Amino acid sequence: MIYKRSSALFAEAQRVIPGGVNSPVRAFTAVGGDPVFVEKAEGAYLYDVDGNKLIDYIGSWGPMILGHAHKPVIDAVIEKAKKGTSFGMPTKIETDIASLAVSMVPNIDKIRFVNSGTEACMSAVRLARGFKGRDKIIKFAGCYHGHSDSFLIQAGSGAITFGTPNSPGVTKGTAKDTLLARFNDLDNVAEIISENKNEIACIILEPVAGNMGCIPPAEGFLQGLRSLCDTHDILLIFDEVMTGFRLAKGGVQELYGVAADIVCFGKVIGGGLPVGAFAAREEIMNYLAPLGPVYQAGTLSGNPLAMAAGFAMLTELNENPEIFKSLAKKTAYLHKGLVVALDESNLTYTINRTGSMISVHFSETPVVDFETAAKGNNNTFKKFFHGLLAEGIYIAPSAFETWFLSEALSYEDLDKTIEACRKVAKTL
Ligand code: PMP
Repeated sequence: MIYKRSSALFAEAQRVIPGGVNSPVRAFTAVGGDPVFVEKAEGAYLYDVDGNKLIDYIGSWGPMILGHAHKPVIDAVIEKAKKGTSFGMPTKIETDIASLAVSMVPNIDKIRFVNSGTEACMSAVRLARGFKGRDKIIKFAGCYHGHSDSFLIQAGSGAITFGTPNSPGVTKGTAKDTLLARFNDLDNVAEIISENKNEIACIILEPVAGNMGCIPPAEGFLQGLRSLCDTHDILLIFDEVMTGFRLAKGGVQELYGVAADIVCFGKVIGGGLPVGAFAAREEIMNYLAPLGPVYQAGTLSGNPLAMAAGFAMLTELNENPEIFKSLAKKTAYLHKGLVVALDESNLTYTINRTGSMISVHFSETPVVDFETAAKGNNNTFKKFFHGLLAEGIYIAPSAFETWFLSEALSYEDLDKTIEACRKVAKTL
């Protein structure tokens, strides 16, 4: 495939945008080469500025669970836009989507909408600190909760990809309140809690991690965290920005039967428009301004176009929950096909999968946490990525990311992908 026009546009972009991109991982820095500039997308396919058609396994990093330019979502946005794009005043659609979200997700009574996953997680932690009157938080190495200061401590996603899990600009004062634990290691969490008795406000995690590739929770891990939190009066925050409305209607809480105290959302909840949200039971949410003392706000929060897109998306997922089963089935099919394809070339790898999240780690050991994820062979991944791109398959340009399947993918698309993997594997 030819990417001439993309490269020319990238050169122009680099003159006026740092690194040519508005979010680092888009830049292909981890895999080398120039990023693909997209012209439009429909269903499971991306169409780039050079006229190439790619099968998409990123789905805008998660939101496009029903495929790109999904008609009910697009129609809802167009209709809303005709009435004005922002008012900074309450609108009915905010209550509509809030009621729907609260009805779909277990253990939440109220939800507040923001503009990104970063804002959702940042606000959730502030609320937890304010509610508990404590400063410290526990986060897990390799988990990514957006780019706010408290989270850029051993962060996953682009932060690891670019070798800056601890970003300059985050003060020592902020960093000292973020305690770092190992994912899937309850003993480690218990030890940190006992060293910081009565000082920890919350534990935040991606309950199925997606930002060090896909890493599911080990058996009993989430339950164990729940019981540590109960014993030590700590709030448990599930960052479901990736997993919410993707792995099940009610997210990981429903899928694994473990209750969180605060849940963060992003991606799917906005149907591809800039939306995040955080939610909890009433006594916690009532701690927020204007009812309570914890301040949180946003000029564009609850934006009508974004709410219309999110409402159309959640409505469809609520009415057709078999979508989640169908997606899991497609992902299992892809998993099985990838195993056969990669085994033909005797490659060493691990595939992790939960629901419609899956990733291939070129690693010799099982990948269960940041340390084991980081042992993956990055050179093999780079070749795999570029090989697939040449075959018209678009996966995330970093080993520290998950693939997201969409319901728009057909079994024919999956077969093409498996075939492409078989071909590329022979060259690795
Ligand atoms: N939490 C998780 C689990 C995420 O995957 C992301 C983004 N990939 C974020 C938070 C931050 O969301 P946003 O990029 O919308 O700020």
